[in-house]
Amino acid sequence: MQFQNSYASELEGCYVPWQGAEVPAPTILRLNEALAEELSLDVAMLYAEGAPILCGAHKPAGSQPLAMAYAGHQFGNFSPQLGDGRALLLGELRDRKGQLRDLHLKGSGATPFSRGGDGKAALGPVLREYLVGEAMHALGVPTTRALAAVATGEQVARDTLLPGAVLARVASSHIRVGTFQFLAARQGADGLRRLADYSIARHFADLADSSDRYFEFLQRVIARQAALVAHWMRLGFVHGVMNTDNTTISGETIDYGPCAFLDAYDERTVFSSIDHGGRYAYGNQPAVAQWNLARLAEALLPLIDAADVDAAVARATEALQAFPGVYQGYWLDAMRSKLGLRTAQDDDLTLINALLECMGDAGADFTLTFRRAADIVRQQPAAFVAIFNEPAAVLAWMDRYRARLAQEPLDERTRAAEMDRVNPLYIPRNDKVEDALSQAHTGDLSAFDRLLDAVTNPYEARADLSGYELGAPPGAAPYRTFCGT
Ligand code: AMP
Ligand code: MG
Repeated sequence: MQFQNSYASELEGCYVPWQGAEVPAPTILRLNEALAEELSLDVAMLYAEGAPILCGAHKPAGSQPLAMAYAGHQFGNFSPQLGDGRALLLGELRDRKGQLRDLHLKGSGATPFSRGGDGKAALGPVLREYLVGEAMHALGVPTTRALAAVATGEQVARDTLLPGAVLARVASSHIRVGTFQFLAARQGADGLRRLADYSIARHFADLADSSDRYFEFLQRVIARQAALVAHWMRLGFVHGVMNTDNTTISGETIDYGPCAFLDAYDERTVFSSIDHGGRYAYGNQPAVAQWNLARLAEALLPLIDAADVDAAVARATEALQAFPGVYQGYWLDAMRSKLGLRTAQDDDLTLINALLECMGDAGADFTLTFRRAADIVRQQPAAFVAIFNEPAAVLAWMDRYRARLAQEPLDERTRAAEMDRVNPLYIPRNDKVEDALSQAHTGDLSAFDRLLDAVTNPYEARADLSGYELGAPPGAAPYRTFCGT
């Protein structure tokens, strides 16, 4: 492994040099061979010798492992001192495209930021992040990736004793809004400038020579987050813990703790057991992203205009006010393509919202409704209509939709096939994920493998995966998820 240690060498003050904990019996459970190859890693070597490295127990040659420091607003409350409480950045690897990618371990032992936690992770949550992260990647969503799940051979104490594991994950960086907040709350503008310049070099290199680069950096992060949340919304994904320390400046999804996908469409859906107020409900995600970006903008004020705070505030405000429009543009594009619309017309928004209203009234399954919409195009709408228990409203909507389709250039077959390439059939359904994880706790990864296979090929219907497209049965108890387990 050829580590670069740019974060370690350029961002002193933003981390603590640290080592992973010893573990009794590190074993690679699953290795993402395609990703390993993308990173020019030797797959055979990883199987033979990688387990102690990928769980943090052995420091690989050339790596300067560290625990990152950050701050963050968690459910709206500011904590000036957070950090990797159970994670370690081993360093950066250069991938085959020449991009630096962080190799980061989660569950590698306590750090100075553990705040009383044990620094460990149980197998279930590690496999959950592996599965959902890889599903998101297959669905075209910017995301951290799973490189490996490593069993530690140790039991971790949760409600019961559970098998311990470490997730080795890869990201284009782990710089968060909270990393900027950490420096803004502490050092003067110098540290902040170093972090901003480092972030620009890694993510927006074309801005490096611009005299207005910090403002442009803010605009770029705003655009990336708008694009990201539009992806979540088009897929019915609820992140669940959109704290500013879980908001990357790269625009990648990070931290698959309490996340889940909608079954029935309802804007108010919350899965996380601790989100009592519904702050991070499905429909709030765009507004929360804008709120988080406002925290980034505040942190950047001294860089945007050091001499004139009022001018800096005015410019940051203007950039933030662009968010709803930018987001809406991405969302509308995504929703049009879900309905097979290549052209844009003024009342498309009304058409889309009318469908969402029918879905909300009927408690229609989000994923299957859009998948089955292609059957309307194919002139076989029975399966689509059957999703709606009181079909009158959706039949009226279908008339409008057909009239709209008549103004589109494509032939039916091509359009339906295009729709099948953007509307997944297989997503990580909550009950399937739980089944796979509880089986894994007994040492059997076959259900995990099968589900991973389904969700990493999400668009192509397969006879051998019959049932994997279905959500929870009607009347099932509401699904609950948990953070930091
Ligand atoms: P996460 O939900 O993984 O984003 O975690 C939120 C914060 O809590 C992060 O700063 C983690 O490092 C920390 N954390 C979560 N679980 C543990 C644990 N078992 N031990 C120590 N810190 C933890
Ligand atoms: Mg986190």
